[in-house]
Amino acid sequence: MPRLLIPVETSPGETRIAATPDTVKKFLSFGCSVSVERGAGMASGYLDHSYEDQGADLVSAADLDAWREADLVLCVQTPTSEALSRMKRGALLVGLLSPYSNESLKNSLTTVGLSAMALELLPRISRAQSADALSSQANIAGYKSVLLASSALDRYFPMLMTAAGTVQPARVVILGAGVAGLQAVATARRLGAVVYVSDIRPAVKEQVESLGARFIDPPEMDDKPAESGGYAKQASDAFLAAQRQQLSDQLAEADVAICTAQVPGRRAPRLISEDMLDRMRPGAVVVDLAVAQGGNCAGTVPGETVDRNGVKLIGGNDLPCTVPNHASALYARNLVALLEPVLKEGAVQLDTEDELIAGCLISHDGNLRRSDVLSPGAN
Ligand code: NAD
Repeated sequence: MPRLLIPVETSPGETRIAATPDTVKKFLSFGCSVSVERGAGMASGYLDHSYEDQGADLVSAADLDAWREADLVLCVQTPTSEALSRMKRGALLVGLLSPYSNESLKNSLTTVGLSAMALELLPRISRAQSADALSSQANIAGYKSVLLASSALDRYFPMLMTAAGTVQPARVVILGAGVAGLQAVATARRLGAVVYVSDIRPAVKEQVESLGARFIDPPEMDDKPAESGGYAKQASDAFLAAQRQQLSDQLAEADVAICTAQVPGRRAPRLISEDMLDRMRPGAVVVDLAVAQGGNCAGTVPGETVDRNGVKLIGGNDLPCTVPNHASALYARNLVALLEPVLKEGAVQLDTEDELIAGCLISHDGNLRRSDVLSPGAN
C-alpha cells in the first residue's frame, strides 16, 4: 500500500496545501494510506480534524518516520534539502518544484536517489488539462490581479451614468494572453473596463476578441517570435523594442496595466520601460505577475507596491497564495488527476514511455531525466 505524506509547506509566504480532505478521500480509495502533518491546512482553511474525518493519519511536523516511510510526498513548493534528505531512496516527490537551473534540487534528487515530477513541465496536451497546475494557479493570479488593480486605482472600473454626470470606463491594457491574461481580461470586462490586449501569438486574437477585448496586433517584423507546445519562444531584442514602441501610446492612455507575459525557463520579456512609465498618469496602476521572472515592467518588486511618481507598481508574484482555499482545492485536484493512473495495483508505477510522465519526470530513482532543465549550462 503506497504511503502518502502531505507536509506543512515551509516556503516563505506559502499558504496553500497539496491535498484537501476531499482529495485525501480519493487517494484512500486508490488504495493508499495518507499522513498529513498537523496544521498543514490551517492557512488555507482546511482543519486537521477534517483530514482525520476522511481517514488520514495526523503526524507531527517533527515526525521523521513519516518522511522516511513515505512512498510519495505531495507538496506545493519544494521542501527544504534537509527535509528531502529524510526521504527514502526511490520515493516520489510531486509538486511545483521550480526545476529551472535548480542545482540544489538536482543535488538532493541524486544524493537521496529520489524520483520527482515537476508540474511546471507537464506537457500542454489535452489529456493533461485536468492535471495542469500552472493553469489552475495562473487562472487565480489573473483574477486576483484585476481585483488588486481595481482597489488600488483612483477611478471606477465601469462606465457610470450618475446624477452628477457620466464617468468613463477604466482603460486596461493586458500584456500576455495566456491563462492568467485571459482570466484577467474576463475579470476586467465583468467589472466594466475597456480592455486592450497584446500578445505575440496571433492565435490568441480570436480568444481575446470573444471576451470583448481589443487585440493589439504584434509588430510586423521578419523575425517574429516562434511558438512551441502552446508557449511563446523568446523574442529578439529588436522585436521587443518595436513592441515597446507600439505599446507606449496605449499605456500613456491606460489606467491599469496587467503584465502576464512569460516565456518558460527564460527571463520575462521587458515590455514597460522607465520612459513608458514616465508617460503614464499619476494614479495609474501596474500589476506585474511576471515579477519573479525578472518582470515585464521596470521597477516592480516581488510582493511590494512601489509608488513611482504616483503610478502604483504592484509586484504580484504570489497571488494564488492570497486565495489559498480555492488555490489548494484546484491544485489538489490537479494532483489526483495526475496520479490516479500512476497508483496501480497497490504501488507507484511510473510509465516513463507515457508522454505526460516523461515530460515532467525530472528524476527517476535519482537518475536525472531532465538535466536540460535542471542544469542547462552542463549540456
Ligand atoms: P505563459 O505563462 O508562459 O505566458 C503567458 C503569455 O505571455 C503567453 O500567451 C505568451 O504568448 C505571452 N507572451 C510571451 N512573450 C510576450 C511578449 N513579448 N508580449 C506579449 N505577450 C507575450 O503561458 P501560459 O498562460 O502558461 O499558457 C500559454 C498557452 O498554453 C495557453 O494560452 C494555451 O494555448 C496553452 N495551454 C494549453 C493547455 C493544454 O492544452 N493542456 C493548458 C494550458 C495552456
